Amino acid sequence: MDRRRFIARVSAASLTLGAARPVPAAAQVAAAQPAAAEGQSAELPTRFTPSAFRLPSSGYSPFTTPDYYTFTDDLAIERNRSGRPHEGKILAAVQAHSDDIPLYCGGTVAKLINEGYTGYLIRISNDEAAGETLGHGVVQNEIDNHEVAKALGCKKALSFYYRNHRMDDCAEIEIRARLIFLFRVLQINTILTMDPYNHYEENPDHLVAARAVEAACWMSGGAKDYPEHYKAGLKPARIREKYYHARSPEGHNLVNLVVDISSYIDDKVRGNVANKGKGPAGAHGSLLRRQLAEQGKKLPLLGDNDETANQEYVKHFLMEDWRLLGAQFGLGYAEAFRYIGPPPDYSARIREYADAHAEPL
Ligand SMILES: [Zn+2]
Repeated sequence: MDRRRFIARVSAASLTLGAARPVPAAAQVAAAQPAAAEGQSAELPTRFTPSAFRLPSSGYSPFTTPDYYTFTDDLAIERNRSGRPHEGKILAAVQAHSDDIPLYCGGTVAKLINEGYTGYLIRISNDEAAGETLGHGVVQNEIDNHEVAKALGCKKALSFYYRNHRMDDCAEIEIRARLIFLFRVLQINTILTMDPYNHYEENPDHLVAARAVEAACWMSGGAKDYPEHYKAGLKPARIREKYYHARSPEGHNLVNLVVDISSYIDDKVRGNVANKGKGPAGAHGSLLRRQLAEQGKKLPLLGDNDETANQEYVKHFLMEDWRLLGAQFGLGYAEAFRYIGPPPDYSARIREYADAHAEPL
């Protein structure tokens, strides 16, 4: 946590995301949820302290911020950093599907790369379930994965091509071994991926991928795991930082870091527009523009061509929930994470204690 500007220690109970939060008009209109879900904490007996907070939602897409977050008492806000403080560091953004990283943490990936990181985008599935046919889905999403990587500033995109929505049928140990190999080859030291402890996950691929990533992070530094890698000249990879994001809408995770992505919202938009084969972004803007034109209408915010229509559609509709999340923290746009930072140097601390307290024999 030392590299982040620490803003305030706030108790979860003092955050204003719960009962006091007004429900946006759009969410009220769109709410097809049970009445109990809206403003439920208002009826919470006083003997209970809320520990999960419902976020405001635009109701424009299910694939945005989760319904709930649980905030830690040492929550920090990561803002823009000047210069290139991360020069020499290497991140891997690992996703089960081509739309996971751009939707849930594309702004943070673009920010970290702009601040000096070299980035790699690793996709675990083949995304076959999102396309006109299974084969078309594989091809389109492979193209998209490369375009997303470019839009976010990554150096390269890689794919493992496991079958979409069937990854719980895969050998997790194989996925993990392939990740360990890549982490060592690329000398990864920072990971962005879905939280393996994300609650209420519907998609089997997400948790399989997340669990494999977490174990690979730990084992990549080990001397005894896959020793043939070292005989072949590879070095251990020390993963020092992990940014875990939640999925939406049902999932929620522990949040101790909010990243200000206001300066990177257009990169995030471009990353999502690049995702043509799946997800809520891609060419949906130009499609809406065409549908309106057929009715003799236009939506001024979509502009005068397909390109502006796609960009503005994503920014106005699909990024709205990240704007609402940011507003809770006084930011333009934000993404939220369970951040796990570098561990202390335990042996150095013991040595320090010993040096300070040792007495003559
Ligand atoms: Zn996904």
